[in-house]
Amino acid sequence: MKMFSEDLGIDLGTSTTLIYSRNRGIVLNEPSVVAISKDTGEVISVGLEAKRMIGKTPANIVALRPLRSGVIANFEATEKMIRYFIKKAVSKNRLFYPRIVIGAPSGITEVERRAVIDSAKQAGAREVYVIEESMAAAIGADLPIEEPAGNMVVDIGGGTTEVAVISLGGMVVSKTIRVAGDEMDLAIMQYFRKRYNLVIGETTAEETKISIGSAFPLKQEQTKEVKGRDQVSGLPRSVVVSSEEIRQALSEPIRAIIEAIKETLEETPAEFAADLVERGIVMTGGGSLLRGFPELISQETSLPVHLAPEPLLSVAIGTGKYLEMLDRMRK
Ligand code: ADP
Ligand code: MG
Repeated sequence: MKMFSEDLGIDLGTSTTLIYSRNRGIVLNEPSVVAISKDTGEVISVGLEAKRMIGKTPANIVALRPLRSGVIANFEATEKMIRYFIKKAVSKNRLFYPRIVIGAPSGITEVERRAVIDSAKQAGAREVYVIEESMAAAIGADLPIEEPAGNMVVDIGGGTTEVAVISLGGMVVSKTIRVAGDEMDLAIMQYFRKRYNLVIGETTAEETKISIGSAFPLKQEQTKEVKGRDQVSGLPRSVVVSSEEIRQALSEPIRAIIEAIKETLEETPAEFAADLVERGIVMTGGGSLLRGFPELISQETSLPVHLAPEPLLSVAIGTGKYLEMLDRMRK
C-alpha cells in the first residue's frame, strides 16, 4: 500500500483551501466557495468556478463560503467541498489512499471535527488527523515548536485571526477573533458608502485593500480609481481614493487584531516573556500581507515581528509536515 499512497495536508481556510503533498508540493489552491441551487439545495459548483459566481448569481443560485466565520455554517456544503477538493487533488492516481491532515480553525466543535473527518474518509482517506491551524502555521513557518520555548504565531486569514503561543508542540495560550481580511473588506465598503455615497462590491473592496491598503504610513502614498454604484442615482460612478483614506477605513479591524495580540500577550505566562522578547512574533495568513502590518504590530507591542517565509502557504505546508513529525516521533 505504501508505494501507492501519499500524505496530504489540507489547509481548510475560510477564504482559500490548499492541499499540500510531501512529494508534489502544493497540488490544489482554490477559494473555499460553494455554489448551491436554492430550489434543490444541490451543489452546482465548488472552488474557483463557484467564486466567479459570487455577487453575480441568478436568483436561484447562491454562492457561499461555508467556513466564512471560522465555524462550519453549512455542513452539507462543507462536506461536498472537502470531497471535491480531495478528489481533484488525487485524481491522477487512482490507487491512492492518502493519510490526510487537516488544519482547521481552533474554534471548531467536536461535531464539526467529526464532519470534517468523515468527509475526508468518504473521499478516500486512509487515516485522517485534524490539527489546529495555528499549530500547522507554526510548523509551516519553520518555528522550533518542539523546543521548550514560547513561539507566538499570528495567523490573519479571511474570516478569522488566530493568535497562539506554542511551546513543546502544544498550545500555551490561544485566541481566535472573527476579525480578519473580510472585516477589512467590509470596512472599506462602509467607508465608500459613508464618505462617497458609493456602493462597491466585496471583490472591489478586496482589490482596493490589496492594491493600496496599509496599516502603517507608506513611504510613497498612492491613489486608486474605484468603481461602484451611486447610492442616490443608482448609476455607475467612480472615485479616486488615497492610501491614507483606505488606512483610515481599515483602522477599526486593525485595532481589533492588535488588541487580540495584546490580550494574548497578557495571558501568556511570565516564563515565556524572555522567549517572546528574543524570538518575537511570526505573522502568517493572507491578512499579514497588508502593507505595514508587521511594522505596526512591532511598534504596538515593542517586540520584533517577522513575516513567515510563505504567509499564504504556511498552514498547508505545516499540515503536510505534521505527518513527517508524527512518523519521526513514532520511530
Ligand atoms: P484563510 O486561511 O482564512 O482562507 P488566507 O490566509 O488565504 O485566509 O487569507 C485570505 C485573506 O487575505 C483575504 O481576506 C485576502 O483579501 C487577504 N489578502 C491576501 N493578500 C493580501 C495582501 N497582499 N494584502 C492584504 N490582504 C491580503
Ligand atoms: Mg488560514
